[in-house]
Amino acid sequence: MFEDELASQEEAAERIGNLLGWSARDTIEILGGPWRAESDIVDSVNPEFFVGRAADSVALLFDLENRTLTIGKAVGHWANVHNLLWDVEEPRQTFELESLSTWEASEAADAAFASKRRSLRICRYCGELLGRERMAGGQQCYGCGTHVFGAVY
Ligand SMILES: [Zn+2]
Repeated sequence: MFEDELASQEEAAERIGNLLGWSARDTIEILGGPWRAESDIVDSVNPEFFVGRAADSVALLFDLENRTLTIGKAVGHWANVHNLLWDVEEPRQTFELESLSTWEASEAADAAFASKRRSLRICRYCGELLGRERMAGGQQCYGCGTHVFGAVY
């Protein structure tokens, strides 16, 4: 993994921790990881959006105006061939930031991950575990479609 990618994952965990009043380490322990800040989102009004856990399974949407956090399944939608927009979908739960317990957060993240896990596929070429938004059909990912077969999406 690239060093700047690691650094940005650490930054994301720290940012999430700051918003929740947790340390970055507790954040990873409670919610899983790694996390990344994502700005390509369906709800573009709020920039505090994070995608994380295995194969982009869980989304965290912070609404700082209303002091809430929505935890749910991360799902990518292709707005056009180049733009993958992320959304937070069912199962999802919204919590008040001030009263969110670590147990509630952990349960919600687990539920989102469990839901996404059912739709994950392994690309037969690169062996990566990926969500539907990364797959070009049931067997290969978009990346391998381009590199192995020269397909242009
Ligand atoms: Zn692949």
